[in-house]
Amino acid sequence: MVSAENIGLVLKVIQEAIKEFEVPAVSHFNRSPFHVLFSCILSLRTKDKVTIEASRRLFGAADSCSKLIELNEKEIERLIFPVGFYKTKAKRIKEIAKILYGKGCKVPETMDELLKLPGVGRKTANLVIAEGFGRPAICVDTHVHRISNRIGLIKSITPFESEMELRKALPRKYWIEYNKLLVAFGQNICVPVSPFCSKCPIESLCPKTNVKKSR
Ligand code: SF4
Repeated sequence: MVSAENIGLVLKVIQEAIKEFEVPAVSHFNRSPFHVLFSCILSLRTKDKVTIEASRRLFGAADSCSKLIELNEKEIERLIFPVGFYKTKAKRIKEIAKILYGKGCKVPETMDELLKLPGVGRKTANLVIAEGFGRPAICVDTHVHRISNRIGLIKSITPFESEMELRKALPRKYWIEYNKLLVAFGQNICVPVSPFCSKCPIESLCPKTNVKKSR
């Protein structure tokens, strides 16, 4: 079983195991709050490869909020296509850029203020706080939610419950790196359907909660 006592060791082992794999999409760019915020919006319901290419095109055309507000919605759509829901995302990006511009081009630093931005949920807000500002926050995406339950660190139904449970179970010093490690681990080893348990480096500690089939 993985617990608060051995999670440090488990994360070290995971870090070693994922060295050969691609880093998650948002880690490809300059990790300023601006870049983390917009690449995370692009990444929702979109494959990493598509997110990376779309982010590259968007930041290539507008690398700051003052440049971003000069682009119209159609131009943003063209730059970010084919990310999922690209029309809605282009609209949101334009709206957020305008709001940020009105605040001196500063990305908000708090959860409450980030959640006021259109289209920004807890996952994006936590990622901006952790990756963009380097402050402790736990970004719960599908990989973090699934794996934290499988390894027995928490027991939760919804991603929100996972975030609250992880806040109690995970020592604060691991909050920032937790998402990045588990995303790469979840994309390559502890995959959603039929995880690769036979080649998993933490297999002996894992209760495999809710795993019906593995390889
Ligand atoms: S043993 Fe299987 S379920 Fe457990 S962490 Fe490894 S891959 Fe995931």
